[in-house]
Amino acid sequence: MSDKLGTTGLILNEPLLWDRGKPGRCGFSMPTDDVPFNPLGEEWTRNDLDWPDLSEVDVVRHYTRLSTWNVSVDAGMYPLGSCTMKYNPKTNERQAGLSGLAEAHPLLPAPLCQGALKMMADLESDLAEITGMDAVSLQPAAGAHGELAGMLIIHACLEHRGERRSKIIIPDTAHGTNPASAALCGYQPVPVKSGPDGILSPEAVRAVMDRDTAGIMITNPNTLGLFEENIKEISEIVHFMGGLVYADGANFNAVMGVVNMGCAGADVMHLNLHKTFSTPHGGGGPGSGPVCVQKHLEPFLPVPRIVLQNGSYGLSEDFPQSIGRLVTFYGHFSVMVRAFSYIRSLGPEGLARASQLAVLNANYIRERLKPYYHLAYDRFCMHECVFSDKKQQVHKIATLDIAKRLMDYGYHPPTIYFPLVVPGALMIEPTETESKDDIDQFVDALIAIAKEAADNPEWLHEAPRTPKMRRMDEVEAARRPCLAG
Ligand SMILES: *Cc1c(COP(=O)(O)O)cnc(C)c1O
Repeated sequence: MSDKLGTTGLILNEPLLWDRGKPGRCGFSMPTDDVPFNPLGEEWTRNDLDWPDLSEVDVVRHYTRLSTWNVSVDAGMYPLGSCTMKYNPKTNERQAGLSGLAEAHPLLPAPLCQGALKMMADLESDLAEITGMDAVSLQPAAGAHGELAGMLIIHACLEHRGERRSKIIIPDTAHGTNPASAALCGYQPVPVKSGPDGILSPEAVRAVMDRDTAGIMITNPNTLGLFEENIKEISEIVHFMGGLVYADGANFNAVMGVVNMGCAGADVMHLNLHKTFSTPHGGGGPGSGPVCVQKHLEPFLPVPRIVLQNGSYGLSEDFPQSIGRLVTFYGHFSVMVRAFSYIRSLGPEGLARASQLAVLNANYIRERLKPYYHLAYDRFCMHECVFSDKKQQVHKIATLDIAKRLMDYGYHPPTIYFPLVVPGALMIEPTETESKDDIDQFVDALIAIAKEAADNPEWLHEAPRTPKMRRMDEVEAARRPCLAG
């Protein structure tokens, strides 16, 4: 079978549209033009636009074939740690597609979009209840954007108190966006090491917390998939020195309906609606990272805010201490609709059950794979578990080989080489939506790979063998990226 023939199984190769076109092909028929030809100008003629001539079927097949190259949660398990690639119930898509919501123009005056505004206000209060915080803004367009909003809020609060602080404490188990968001806001990140049990100790925080430190950014559950059990004591240490506590709640699907982050001491946190609350993501599509705050930070939330006055909803800019506007309109509305639909269809018990299943699934994988792969922190985990290639290294097999080989078994590889605190990390997040059968199949594939690593390491070095593209030259790609296509 030749590569040029274009098939690996029935996955078709696809040339560029420019290679596919033939002069004279056309996607539509029009009556003959009876208007005299009148060119726009000599330097701009149709021939200068290098567009291919294509028929309708050329175009439809081109994009349909490209779409089959996408790996998706609808096609199979996608255990990408820290990303929560779970199945998103189709009913939420359906609600987001309702014409009254999908076609609502962002410039509609408030009296004409009361339903949309009420839904947003209700979603804000649902999220406040779920997190244990007092007020929410749905504006931030992604998780990292929510972090930036949170940092700006902390900065505004300190400024209001007449204080200028220059540092933020960030544990080594925080998500990589945390130090970036703090730095964008002008803070200097102060790294703190997690303890031998994979979580942060109050002593480590006490050692660095001072009156020039604005606070701490703590990812909980952290990137090792472990719950930061000392968060309350850590919050007290930070608060005692006048600092604020930022909780990164992007991975809230581990603790929804179980943990109250407000009681745990968080002053401000964000959620990732596109992870936890049912919006398909991964293709760089729209996200939503609501920022949730305690009462004392409410005046600093971004504007406009949704307000209820005399029985009708509106958007108000009348919050003088606000950090200002973060997005053009009011964030990504369709993501909010999906989240609202998800929350209301599951209800409080359903949300808690989803989290329990996410944790159960990850722990099941952890227990089953423990004899075959080195477990970086051998203790009860939350929604994800982190292995490493330590056991396979004796056969000269690295995490990359294991991840590539998984593709031959039909799985999107887990997150690899992250978090950085675990060398050769393999970070697996099954999510709550996988059945035991599907998880067993996935675990069996990883066990088979562990056996191959011992028996036939050369074979693994050449994986993947079945996908359209074989192993990439990652060094070349990193050193000399081809950005022009
Ligand atoms: C995904 C994630 C983020 C960043 O979210 P984006 O929407 O990709 O910006 C931040 N923190 C944690 C813990 C995450 O898992």
